[in-house]
Amino acid sequence: MGNNYSIPIKGVLNKLSLRDLNIKGKRLFIRVDFNVPLDENLNITDDKRIRSTLPTINYAVDEGAKIILASHLGRPKGAVDKRYSIGSVAKRLQRLIKKEVIFLPDCIGPEVEEAVSKMSEGDIILLENLRFHKEEEENDEEFSKSLAKLADYYINDAFGAAHRTHASIVGITKFLPAAAGFLLQREIEYLKGAVDSPVRPFVAILGGAKVSGKIGVLINIENKVDKVIIGGGMAYTFLKAMGYVVGDSLVEDDMIGIAKNIMEKLISKGIKFYLPVDCVIAQSVEYGVETKIVPVQEIPNNWKALDIGPASVKLFTAAIANAKTILWNGPMGVFEVDAFSRGTFAVAHAVADAYALTIVGGGDTDLAVSRSGVSESMSFISTGGGAALQLLEGKELPGLAALTDK
Ligand code: AMP
Repeated sequence: MGNNYSIPIKGVLNKLSLRDLNIKGKRLFIRVDFNVPLDENLNITDDKRIRSTLPTINYAVDEGAKIILASHLGRPKGAVDKRYSIGSVAKRLQRLIKKEVIFLPDCIGPEVEEAVSKMSEGDIILLENLRFHKEEEENDEEFSKSLAKLADYYINDAFGAAHRTHASIVGITKFLPAAAGFLLQREIEYLKGAVDSPVRPFVAILGGAKVSGKIGVLINIENKVDKVIIGGGMAYTFLKAMGYVVGDSLVEDDMIGIAKNIMEKLISKGIKFYLPVDCVIAQSVEYGVETKIVPVQEIPNNWKALDIGPASVKLFTAAIANAKTILWNGPMGVFEVDAFSRGTFAVAHAVADAYALTIVGGGDTDLAVSRSGVSESMSFISTGGGAALQLLEGKELPGLAALTDK
């Protein structure tokens, strides 16, 4: 249901966007995030990141631009390492886009410049891994210039890397008119537009391992949110702050005071604050271990709370029933292990069924939603982990700030 909800969030981007440019016959340097997961035989295990840039690439092809794609892959530490070659991505892209993709063995230099000079309208070149040059991560000026030399316009469609101050994200924008691609634009519209001016009631569901990873998001939304639901490992720091004994559950002792303060502040503002009332416990996070469901008041010593229990699922489901906007970031439990995945999957279904604009953070939450089989029912799933969090914390993304103002 989520994706049927209408979306009043246009006009958030105050930067040049791809559609503002006349790109016919022009060379576009498009920074994409093709940092896809690979298995031990270097096969791509998930091509979502490639697929999510197709609208931008197809548009550029249709408009008659010459398309030069560049990305990083993995952490080759500034040197050529064939395990991180982007060659396999070129093949997958070619299959997805049903068009030839010319793969070049480097991202700068005379050979690359020559290939680019021979391009015709609609041609697609994919450059080799940017991080084979250490200058990429150093945001080096000369390296940025060498990249810029290849093109007439720079397009950033690499949301997952937009929080990095690297040459192909920031440095290059000094030398070319720089615009946002469609993926970057959509990410900003949802994670900034919809979250900064939400249709209310606005419910935030936060989970995952640590309070310290999500506290910035709570602070950023404290004046816009109507309900906050906390699950995952972070819930037990809040419960401990309330005086509960939480056994061996994950607790960040140095965050107890901060958790208590933010909880009291939110409640004093009239925001409804929900914590788990029951949980699935075990003595270790292993397959086949004995598990029990207990109220949060009854977690024994040496037992850990590893998922929310059925009563919490009911409580959380009821709490989101009338929401018009839902933001979800962080799993409700250790969903990677079957025995502790039910809470997360149940919440995924509840969010998917809500008649609301549903926005899901990237990384683990994306994976959890996809394992729940309800990805198609969400309004928007971010492709970025770190970048999404940074936006949700209200911080500036260097890659966005660097683009040309409108
Ligand atoms: P984050 O990156 O902070 O969103 O955390 C995601 C991780 O939190 C996942 O790998 C989960 O396994 C883990 N997690 C969720 N709930 C718990 C819990 N109750 N105890 C320990 N780890 C958890």
